[in-house]
Amino acid sequence: ISHLVSPMTGLAAQWAGYQRSLISLERISLILEKPSESQDLPSYQPASSNGISIQLNDLSFTYDNHSKVLRNLNAVIPSNSTVAIVGPSGAGKSTLSQLLMGFYKPHTGDILFNEKPINAYTPAELRNLIAYVPQESFLFSGTIRENLKLARPDSSDEEMIQACIDAYIHQVIMQFPNGYDTEIGERGIKVSGGQRQRIAIARAILRGAPILLLDEATSALDNESEHQVKRVLKQAKQKRTLLIIAHRLTTIRHADLVIVMDKGEIIQMGKHTDLVQRKGLYQTLYAKDEISFESAAGVKHG
Ligand code: ATP
Repeated sequence: ISHLVSPMTGLAAQWAGYQRSLISLERISLILEKPSESQDLPSYQPASSNGISIQLNDLSFTYDNHSKVLRNLNAVIPSNSTVAIVGPSGAGKSTLSQLLMGFYKPHTGDILFNEKPINAYTPAELRNLIAYVPQESFLFSGTIRENLKLARPDSSDEEMIQACIDAYIHQVIMQFPNGYDTEIGERGIKVSGGQRQRIAIARAILRGAPILLLDEATSALDNESEHQVKRVLKQAKQKRTLLIIAHRLTTIRHADLVIVMDKGEIIQMGKHTDLVQRKGLYQTLYAKDEISFESAAGVKHG
């Protein structure tokens, strides 16, 4: 409930306010869940069928020119793969996400999308490239349809439904009293955390971006939601590049590549099955706490 705000009428006014304000994570999530302004976006571009590869090329970053928050990151992420980014608190996962979304520029080194440097993309192009699903997704009081179509107001009902099928939330919505016209929020029905996350994923899918960046919720999901999220990952993977700041073993096990970060560096990379065999931070974290990496290591540094 705390994530539901005023109805659609208030939203436009809030939106203008947000754009004038400095970026905070809350706002970033709202911006990225909304489509680009129409003047930036001549027409809707469906996700490239070939997908988007991502390359980190000796990427370093500092917020204050003193301490490096990211240090010489190198990685190649093939198109349509699923990558789990893991590491203790303060490792630099969110910072890396923000660079990928273009909110900060690389200090040295580069990020390449399909071999093109990130700075060669316009902000509008970047927003069409990456859809971001934050930990706590933003749903407003209104119908499910309104919440979904916020992503792309010109989308057809068929596209909206397909996105919900892909996010494994269509069946659930159909069981609500008025289907897609069911009100959620203060005057409507309550949706569970897992359902909210899947509605947010459907909304991101509806945007059609070839890269989906998901900040996985740390809060526990019920078994049903956990199972559904697993299916979403499997489904989403064939169609887009999936980057997940991952906290769940289920997710990590399904990833093609796990990137282990610590103190701003990539210290290990590989598949879960390989990483658990190797001595290193991943094995330690895994041995200490199977489910969540958050409690395993870290005090914030920097
Ligand atoms: P968590 O899992 O807790 O979200 P994280 O791995 O995402 O951690 P970041 O949030 O990227 O890590 O933080 C990496 C480092 O950068 C930390 O030392 C943090 O204090 C610092 N940091 C993060 N944001 C800023 C900022 N806006 N200005 C200055 N330093 C920052």
